Amino acid sequence: MSAPEPATPRRFFVETWGCQMNELDSQRFAGQLMQQGLLPTRHPREADVILLNSCSVRDKAEQKVFSRLGQYRLLKAERPDLLLGLCGCVAEQVGRRALRRVPELDFVLGTARVGELAAVIARRRRGERPVATGFSDPRHYEIDAISRDGTYKGMVTLIEGCDKHCTFCIVPRTRGPERSRPLREVVREVRHLVDYGFREIELLGQTVNHWREPGGTQDFADLLDAVARIEGVERLRFVTSYPRDFTSRMVARFARHANLCPYLHLPVQSGSDRVLRLMGRGYTAASYRDLVAELRAARPDIALSTDLIVGFPGETEEDFRATVELVREIRFGSFFAFKYSPRPGTAAPRLPDPVDDETADRRLQELFQIQEPIQLELNGRLVASEQDVLVTGWGREPGTQHGRTRCHRVVHFAAGDTPTRPGDTTRVRVEKALPHSLIARRLDAPPQASAQ
Ligand code: SF4
Repeated sequence: MSAPEPATPRRFFVETWGCQMNELDSQRFAGQLMQQGLLPTRHPREADVILLNSCSVRDKAEQKVFSRLGQYRLLKAERPDLLLGLCGCVAEQVGRRALRRVPELDFVLGTARVGELAAVIARRRRGERPVATGFSDPRHYEIDAISRDGTYKGMVTLIEGCDKHCTFCIVPRTRGPERSRPLREVVREVRHLVDYGFREIELLGQTVNHWREPGGTQDFADLLDAVARIEGVERLRFVTSYPRDFTSRMVARFARHANLCPYLHLPVQSGSDRVLRLMGRGYTAASYRDLVAELRAARPDIALSTDLIVGFPGETEEDFRATVELVREIRFGSFFAFKYSPRPGTAAPRLPDPVDDETADRRLQELFQIQEPIQLELNGRLVASEQDVLVTGWGREPGTQHGRTRCHRVVHFAAGDTPTRPGDTTRVRVEKALPHSLIARRLDAPPQASAQ
């Protein structure tokens, strides 16, 4: 008698939009589904469970999620047993209304309930259409139920949520109140990732440098000391920092720990004090400049990136000129600039003097035009230098790979006869600078082994 055919494995597909927090949440979804015996697939058509891990930071991102749901509902029409779940910030924001808007949707899972995926799927199988949103305590966070595969860096959440309530931002609504994880849990997770083979650790939080030991006195500077000293942490980075929460003790850590990468994302949003006040940011352009000077004194090779919003309600031409001046003066290595997007439940849409779309567009284009030659010039300074590159994947051109320098610049290079596995490092010489990347040649250093 012949052996029975093995059952076809059930599969899942997770589509992720937005920030690193969402990326890590998707790893948590994948881990839980794999614990239930499902395998990942790259093809939604093959999937038995499809999760959309959504972002609502801008209106466009939200619209994209619903248009994608519109496509997946057609798959569900062909295969009614397919489970379709809406997760992430849009899920948190719209909750039960999503079930009315998309009748094929099986469940809605909010940002603080990621650890409840298995329970929500079980409820669905019993016939409910569950909506798990809101910010109850305690939150489930199991580091052993996170699928870390397929990524080159180990991400660790330090803080969930945000209490700042900047007037343009929906995050406090979609991610809830700020909550720091205990230092011992963070250290345990970093050790686990190092044992797993990760060379780069990225600490995450909406205001990561506002971390405080729950019920204790230690702050983010102490946490950096504890994590940077863990053996095997070759590269340490953190995102996103809030300018007002940066202290001199934190800045000094850039001089103290060589494995703390010389890169910092420090959102400024505007160069105008008047607009910063309207945004409720709690710092001025001058204090931001002082902080940048302090950081550069502590770590002269530090590369800075930032976020900018143009067309914020009430932004005058003079306010915009102040932003242009700041961008010219600080010379960011890169930036993320956007037109203001009104978000529901935030204060900014009620401000007077909205900026028309055409003006906002023009301002955005002007910023890009100013920034491009700055980036080209800064990247040009690295030509002929040797860099350690953490390989992040394969390039579009056959036989090429890409990676990141310690200062977080993208590098493209030919893989050669012995390609480097994503997650390992290689040494390159930079041969050419482009505005958004570097072209390099791999030097003959043998690739180092990694447990990953
Ligand atoms: S600090 Fe401001 S911009 Fe950042 S997540 Fe919190 S509210 Fe949003």
